[in-house]
Amino acid sequence: MSAKLKISGLRASVGGTEILRGIDLEVGAGEVHAVMGPNGSGKSTLAHVLSGRPGYKVLGGSVTLDGKELLDLPAWQRAQAGLFCTLQYPLEVPGVQVIDVLAEARRAAGGDPEAVAQEARTEAGRIGLDERFLLRAMNVEFSGGERKRNETMQLAVLKPRFAVLDELDSGLDVDALRVIARRVEAATTESNLGVLAITHYARLLTELKPDVVHVLLQGRIVRTGGPDLANELESTGYAEYRDSGVQSSG
Ligand code: ADP
Ligand code: MG
Repeated sequence: MSAKLKISGLRASVGGTEILRGIDLEVGAGEVHAVMGPNGSGKSTLAHVLSGRPGYKVLGGSVTLDGKELLDLPAWQRAQAGLFCTLQYPLEVPGVQVIDVLAEARRAAGGDPEAVAQEARTEAGRIGLDERFLLRAMNVEFSGGERKRNETMQLAVLKPRFAVLDELDSGLDVDALRVIARRVEAATTESNLGVLAITHYARLLTELKPDVVHVLLQGRIVRTGGPDLANELESTGYAEYRDSGVQSSG
């Protein structure tokens, strides 16, 4: 059976306002789907709701990984089921070493935590993250670029089945962006990773090649197309979708 992350009719609110207003999306193993949209369209809200972050209220719909409902599960069980989420602004965890987080995650997945250190060093080297970062407290006093490299290293070591990446490109210079996007792209073939890449700009997608591009506006997917859609959006922006008036169903 081929693995699948399936989002159906997902509606969610935060602070009493409905932000996601019916999202349908299906990512297969090894596929890359991009979700693009202007500021405030609900991209991070989608990532947070998928990750199980507290503070969001699911109003309807479902999210399944190989048929297993994720919305009923706390964040750590979603991770165990094979879902990995990166944050637009990765959190600092003072007092907890990066390597300990990886070992714990590996143990929780029933694997060998002893093997993690060598894998982490290898993966850090692959994306130009100094291995001393493995012994530092998670993201504490990391630069924006170091945080994104750290997230990518964790993804590479933990080998989830699906990854939701919220603005993996934000705060990165061109060289860092290329390295990270290539590493994620490689995972789609090396471990058949399925990716939901949430991004504002098309530049991430020149290295991490999407199979499908979705446009998110006001909490709905208003258009779905092939990779060319990303370039089109880069030159035309989102005005066309606003003008064509995404009607509120009230
Ligand atoms: P994007 O990532 O596409 O820029 P977000 O998902 O961050 O957009 O935000 C979508 C909308 O939800 C915005 O209008 C934002 O102000 C609102 N929003 C996000 N978080 C909260 C919150 N905690 N309370 C109230 N409104 C929020
Ligand atoms: Mg965002």
